[in-house]
Amino acid sequence: MSFSYLKQLPSPDAIKEQYPLPKELADLKSKRDQMISDVITGKDDRFLVIIGPCSADNEEAVCDYVSRLAPVAEKVKDRLILIPRIYTNKPRTTGEGYKGIASQPDPEKKPDMLAGLIAMRNMHIRAIKESGLTCADEMLYPENWGYVEDLLSYVAIGARSVEDQHHRLTVSGFDVASGMKNPTSGDFTVMLNSVYAAQHPHHFVYGGYEVETNGNPLTHVILRGAVSKHGNTVQNYHYEDIMRLIDRYQKIDLVNPAAIIDANHSNSGKKYEEQVRIVKEVMHNRRISPEIHKMIKGVMIESYIEPGAQKVGEHIYGKSITDPCLGWEASEQLIYDIAEKNI
Ligand code: PEP
Ligand code: MN
Repeated sequence: MSFSYLKQLPSPDAIKEQYPLPKELADLKSKRDQMISDVITGKDDRFLVIIGPCSADNEEAVCDYVSRLAPVAEKVKDRLILIPRIYTNKPRTTGEGYKGIASQPDPEKKPDMLAGLIAMRNMHIRAIKESGLTCADEMLYPENWGYVEDLLSYVAIGARSVEDQHHRLTVSGFDVASGMKNPTSGDFTVMLNSVYAAQHPHHFVYGGYEVETNGNPLTHVILRGAVSKHGNTVQNYHYEDIMRLIDRYQKIDLVNPAAIIDANHSNSGKKYEEQVRIVKEVMHNRRISPEIHKMIKGVMIESYIEPGAQKVGEHIYGKSITDPCLGWEASEQLIYDIAEKNI
């Protein structure tokens, strides 16, 4: 048997009408989008800190985490812009395992896509309401954009999706800062071609419509480290890597050259505590090199309430069920350290 069509899902407009974003929160989002855009275009020299769990698996714990970030964000607001990670869709290396709240609102139960779309939207709205912070998500399924386009202030395209045409063309229609990760092979050409594609206008099929996009000038790169053909992790956050990136950016016709360093994944080899050292090295390189200072606009950190990771079913509140994360205390301290160094 091939596909079984289980049920038709409501359109993005229908879901948005049922679960609307209140007007004052929409205004807040516009302001945050503008601030983040100004960092990417170089008008604002604050530093972006995209921080939060690998997967937003539990609304209570995620909203608790994001609410803890709010007073910290307020304290560092002259130097940093904090963007919580609320990742509702998870790419899996072999396709197996927990695929995010948008597929499985309960990680121990069967997938339920309608409940998932609602859970994804409700969690983002609640996080904004409770923290005043608009968030980042990965657009693993480009067709999901319509369900959250009024909520997200930052979008990432993951290492396993960045070479895909549908993802690239979809980003060309986004109006928020969007980061293209390097692929797991580490190839800069694939990543920069992806930025090129997303920065230009396109005409294609999307959500059952023929559409046109304008191109997204806020598209930039995220360096997440790589895996070699021998299976070893290869870091790409060091001084020499950034100089190589600057050189490559100069050879391709792109606007707003910018990079975010993802301190976990293949940069830390998922040794999550290493994120502290990695971020500090990035801040050091920014201080000693004006070119690196200009290129690196932020960091991405995987962080949650409890340090490390657990298996699905262990039920430890605020502990990751996908990649291991830095715990709350270490994360809070790291944010203050970044703020101190962003001078
Ligand atoms: C992530 O950010 O959790 C993630 C899955 O990243 P990547 O696409 O770099 O593996
Ligand atoms: Mn992760």
